Formats: sequence, C-alpha cells, structure tokens
Amino acid sequence: SPELANDDKTIVQNYFNSTGFDRWRRIYGDGEVNSVQLDIRRGHQQTVDTLLDWLKADNNLKDMTFCDAGCGVGSLSIPLAEAGAKVFSSDISEKMVEEAQKRAKETLNNSDNPVFIVQDLEKLSGSYHTVVCLDVLIHYPTDKIATMIKHLSSLAESRLIFSFAPKKPCLVLLKKVGELFPGPSKTTRAYLHRQVDIVKILEEEGWTVERKAMTSTRFYFSQMLEAVKGVPAAEPEA
Ligand code: SAM
Repeated sequence: SPELANDDKTIVQNYFNSTGFDRWRRIYGDGEVNSVQLDIRRGHQQTVDTLLDWLKADNNLKDMTFCDAGCGVGSLSIPLAEAGAKVFSSDISEKMVEEAQKRAKETLNNSDNPVFIVQDLEKLSGSYHTVVCLDVLIHYPTDKIATMIKHLSSLAESRLIFSFAPKKPCLVLLKKVGELFPGPSKTTRAYLHRQVDIVKILEEEGWTVERKAMTSTRFYFSQMLEAVKGVPAAEPEA
C-alpha cells in the first residue's frame, strides 16, 4: 500500500538524517573507521571509479547533463562535475545533501555545479542525458523497485546507470552489513535484488544493457548496469 511505501521511505530518510548519516559520512570519507567499514569504503570507491573510467573513456563528458539520484555525500557527483559534466544531484536526506554541498565547496571552485537539492528521487522531474542511481536500490523492497526504476527511466534521455546488491546472499554478509542499515530487524532492511528482475524492468522501458561491472570485497557487493536507449543494432546483412 502507499502508506507502507511512505513508512519505508520515512524510516530510510530518518536513518540517513541521524545514525546513518554519521556512519555513512565516515564510510564515504577518509578518516578512521573499523575494518568492516573500511572494506565497504574501498568497495564503494571501486564502483565509483569503474563508472568514472567508463564515462571518461567515452570522452564526451563536457556539458553532458547528469542526474545523480540518491547522491549521498557527492562521491560521484563531485568528480563528475570536476570532469566537466553538468550535474544535478539529489538525496532524500537533508544531512547527506548538506555534507555533499560542503564537500563540493571544498573540492570545486564554482558553487553552481553540481546543483544539490533535498528530494525523494521518485518526485524528481526534468530531463537529463544520463540518470545515475548508485547503491540506493538496497533500500527498496522487490515490489517497489519497478515503480522507482520506471520513474527514473522517464527522466533519462539516453542512458540509465544503476547499481544494486545482487541476490546471492551470504548470511555472514547480511549480519555484518545489516548493522549498517536502518530498521527494527537489522538484517531485513537491506534488500538484495536479482539481476534478471532489474534487466527485465529496464527492457520493458526500452533500454538495453550495454556495460556491466560487479564489485565484490568482503562486505561490499554491488552490481552496476549501464543501459542505453533502443535495442541492440542487428548485424548488417552481407
Ligand atoms: N549514491 C551515493 C553513492 O553511491 O555514494 C549514496 C549511496 S547511500 C548507500 C544511499 C543513499 O540513498 C543515501 O544517501 C539515502 O539518503 C539515499 N536515498 C534512499 N532512498 C532515497 C529516495 N527514495 N530518494 C532519494 N534518495 C534516497
């Protein structure tokens, strides 16, 4: 029901404005953290670096518009803006956005790129060349991901990039990592997804998966998919 969806979201939002903010700001930083958090920090950085490598290799970032949905502290938005892209970043947590703005100010000279706003990604509007949503699907239960992906799809002109924790669970992982996620039952609030389900939703919306990358460390698992508009080009007939 919609109420349940709101409740789920409120829990995530409250978490990332309190305990979660504190934990994840440190994980996504460079100060001292425990060994599990350090492992997650390195894994996440690998996901970000892989994506930046893909994008830089295309050599067309200058002035390309990006929407970074659920931008966190700006780990992707800031280097993307640095590389010349126009970045529109949003997050449901005010605290995460504040931190992202602070980091952007420290790193970049101009203050109007990225543009940061506090917003539920399902309320975003506008049109962007590329929409990116990294490590956010973990907060969405299976029955809510289609709506979410479809909405982001409607904002993307040419490309959609998602990452998610793939459903090949290991209980040890869930126990340790679960402690870093919100909710009364700590292990149930991190949602894993099957790649086939995600690909199916993307294909229904007219996308074709172009590049894929899996990052796994001890405690961090993230499957990234880049989808582009249209069906794959057929081999030309001889
Ligand atoms: N994408 C960032 C990155 O990779 O560095 C942050 C990932 S962090 C694990 C998840 C982020 O998603 C949090 O900052 C959280 O506040 C945000 N988030 C969760 N649900 C959201 C929603 N419905 N709309 C916008 N942001 C959301």
